[in-house]
Amino acid sequence: MPAKPKTKRAVKDRRVKKKPCNFCVEKSIDINYKDVGRLRKYISERGKILPRRISGNCAKHQRLLTVAVKRARVIAFLPFVSE
Ligand SMILES: [Zn+2]
Repeated sequence: MPAKPKTKRAVKDRRVKKKPCNFCVEKSIDINYKDVGRLRKYISERGKILPRRISGNCAKHQRLLTVAVKRARVIAFLPFVSE
């Protein structure tokens, strides 16, 4: 029995389509440090801010998000580190 090509899935997975920026798509939502529920989606389990290549945000919104997360941390809405 000839060997099957096992790379079929691996190759497909590597080229992931670029995610559009959530904040650009939904123009109505603005990034606010009080919006903890939304900010929480952009920090990792350990409390770190997700990098742009993972969150898919554009530079402008990632910048605003970073400021918002940092602000939220200072007033203890979000953790600096968890665990
Ligand atoms: Zn954007």
